Order: sequence, then C-alpha cells, then structure tokens
Amino acid sequence: MEFRDNERETAFRAEVSSFLDAEFPPEYSDRPSEWGLFNGAGRAIPGFMEFMRGWTAKLNQRGWGAPAWPKEHGGGGLSVKEQFILSEEFAWRRAPRPGGIGHGWAGPTVMVYGTGEQKAEYLPKIISGEHIWCQLFSEPGAGSDLASLQTRAIRDGDDYVVNGQKIWTSGAQHAHMGILIARTNPDAPKHRGISYFLVDMKTPGITVRPLINMLNSHEFNEVYFEDVRIPAKNLLGEENRGWYLATTTLDFERSGIATSVAHQLIVRDLVKFAKESRVGSHTVATTPHLRNELADRTIEAQVEALICYRIISMQERGEIPNKESSIAKLFSSELDVRLASTAMHLAGLYSQVTDRDDTSAMGGRFPRFYMHSTTSPIGGGTSEIQRNIIAMRGLGLPRG
Ligand SMILES: Cc1cc2nc3c(=O)[nH]c(=O)nc-3n(C[C@H](O)[C@H](O)[C@H](O)COP(=O)(O)OP(=O)(O)OC[C@H]3O[C@@H](n4cnc5c(N)ncnc54)[C@H](O)[C@@H]3O)c2cc1C
Repeated sequence: MEFRDNERETAFRAEVSSFLDAEFPPEYSDRPSEWGLFNGAGRAIPGFMEFMRGWTAKLNQRGWGAPAWPKEHGGGGLSVKEQFILSEEFAWRRAPRPGGIGHGWAGPTVMVYGTGEQKAEYLPKIISGEHIWCQLFSEPGAGSDLASLQTRAIRDGDDYVVNGQKIWTSGAQHAHMGILIARTNPDAPKHRGISYFLVDMKTPGITVRPLINMLNSHEFNEVYFEDVRIPAKNLLGEENRGWYLATTTLDFERSGIATSVAHQLIVRDLVKFAKESRVGSHTVATTPHLRNELADRTIEAQVEALICYRIISMQERGEIPNKESSIAKLFSSELDVRLASTAMHLAGLYSQVTDRDDTSAMGGRFPRFYMHSTTSPIGGGTSEIQRNIIAMRGLGLPRG
C-alpha cells in the first residue's frame, strides 16, 4: 500500500487546502450535527442554513459538492484517491460538505437504475440542494431482517397504492422526497417481491410523526402510508427487483476517512483538556487510569485510519471492499462509543452538565456526544450483523 501522495495528488491536496484557506469561514467549522443547524454542543449556529446554500453553490462550481458523481450529472468525476483527499482535507478543517441520503443513496441509485426522465428530474435538484431526501426502509418488524418488510404497494391503473408504516426515518420532517421499498408481490419469496419507489413526501396520505430521542431532539420519525397513490413512473428499476436495488453496492469512495479524522480531532481535544484541567492539586493528565484510557483511544484512532487506508487502496485497485466495509463500520461505530465514554470519564462531575453552558467542561459538548454515540452501533447495520458478516465472509465460518 502506498501511503504517500504522488505528484498529481500532492498538487490536488494543495489546491483543496488553498481553496479552504481562502473560502471557508472558520466560524462554521464545529462538527455540525442535527441536520447542520447545531454545533457539537447543541447550540444553533446562527445563519448556518444560509451559509450552507452559498457554500454548496461554491463547491458545485468545482464539482466538489458531489465529488464522486460523474461530471455529466453535475458531480466532480474525481478518482477514488482524489475523493479521499478531498474528504480528508475537509474533515481536518471541520468544513461541512453537502451530503445525506440524496447524495449518498438516492442519487447514485437513480444514476444506475433510473430512466432518462428520472435522472433529469431528480439528480440536478439533489446537487443544488433543492431537494432533501429520506430513506423509508426500516419498519417496526423489519430492521436487520429488512426483507421481511410488510408495507404493501398494489398497482392500480397508472399508480401504486401504498399502505403501511416505516420507522426510524431520519430527517423525514425536512425531506421533499423519499426512497421507499415496499412489497409488490406477497406470494414471491421475500427478497423477490419488493419494489423500489421515489416518493414525493407531500403526497396525500403520508403522515410523519416525530420520534424524540434521549437527547430530547427530533432526528427521526415514524412515517405512515394510508392509501398513498404513487405514480407508476416513480417506480425505480423493474417491479419486484427492488431488493437488489436497495442492496446495490455503489462503487463510490466510502472509506470512512471523514469519521476517522473527526475521531483524531476528538482525541486531540481530549488530550488538551486533560493537560489543562486540574483535579485538586494535579491535572487530569497525571491520573493513571485516565492516561491509560487516552493512550488506548489514540492508538485506536490510528488503527481506524489504517482500516480506511486499506479500503481506499482496494478501491483504487478496482476491488470492491466487502468484509472490509463491515470491519470499518464495526470498529468506527464502537470507537465512537469508547471515545464518548472516555470524554465523560475525563470530565468527571462536569460530565453531568449537558450543553448550552460555555463554563462546563469542553463547552458541554460531550454529554451530547455520549448519548448520541449509542446509536452508532445500530444505524446502518448493527454490530452483531457486522460481526456475522465478518465471521462468514472473512473467516469462512458457517451461518450462526
Ligand atoms: C440513528 C439512526 C438512524 C436511522 N435512520 C434510518 C433511516 O433514515 N431510514 C431507515 O430506514 N432506517 C433507519 N434506521 C434504522 C436502522 O437501519 C435499524 O435500527 C437497524 O437496521 C436495526 O434494526 P432494528 O432497530 O429493527 O433492530 P433489530 O433488527 O430488531 O435488532 C435488535 C437486536 O437484535 C440483534 N440481531 C438482529 N438480528 C440478528 C442476527 N441475525 N444475529 C445476531 N443478532 C441479531 C441486533 O444486532 C440488535 O441488537 C436508523 C437507526 C438509527 C439508530
């Protein structure tokens, strides 16, 4: 594996870096969460949405708003390594980039399976930021075993009529469009009776109900479908082939380097805090068990970076990461939990003080991070499911 950039990559890294120096206002540099409206401590960043609109337009001029997308669809058409460099440089500055379900899932799936009309209709609005998308996959009885989903779509003339319930739908309250999988043939084996739809979230019969999480914040929702008429032209790909669309592995850069850099920045913040904070007559940094924890987290953040480099080098060689993606997801999401836990140990009694108070330890951001980290090993495939994949595909063990 070659860790160093070649000449062309060095030049590209310098180009990204000087663009950020010149154009990126550092006041927007805290790690945004909760749909970009809040900084890491949960306080609203004034003017963030307006900033993001202008920032997205500026990035799009260079194709950096959707660097992995082909140029013909408004993306950057960057190589895997260039996408990696861009992600890495943005992450080190904590500079936000447009993203989400539209850029990461809906757009690429429409690109591969959509008709010319569907591509022309949806892709430009994802790139411009005009359309926010949500993902309507999970149901109360179908999460890890997603193919058991029960939401029904029945063809009726030029429409499909949809009835059922989705759950954990992140951002549905803001979404203009959703990618929906629903059962179109209940008699077929479960993976073969599912179809994939592009749904206008304003269609009559769709009800979005908030689910408030333990941070007291509204991130995901329940979504109910009652006799919702979806035009047949919004079917993506062939009827009953939706499962294969939903599981499509798109050959775009997904090394996880942005999360890996975010973790390294957190370690840096924690080390600074440990050096500066006093417990009685000594600093947190001289407390033996806290020093050990910090050392462990530092090593783990480096290991995570190496896992990312491994994935990127595979993609560069044209190989498709398989068990490697599960290793990365598992390691990174569980490191999220361990890092948040270490932050709470370092903050001591201050870890009880949540956000919105500049006097609390590290701006009071870590209690939120701690509570939020509990979701990391669940969303996007639980740790148990990742371990099953690693056991079967990585170690060749039989199905458990
Ligand atoms: C923050 C967050 C955001 C999310 N956003 C979305 C979204 O936008 N759209 C969407 O559709 N979904 C979303 N989800 C849902 C997510 O995809 C599911 O939570 C996930 O797939 C797990 O499904 P489940 O919650 O039904 O748990 P279950 O599948 O019921 O699992 C319960 C427990 O059993 C374990 N388990 C299940 N099967 C096995 C097995 N075969 N072997 C071993 N252990 C097993 C699991 O690991 C878990 O511990 C989100 C979830 C989170 C946490």
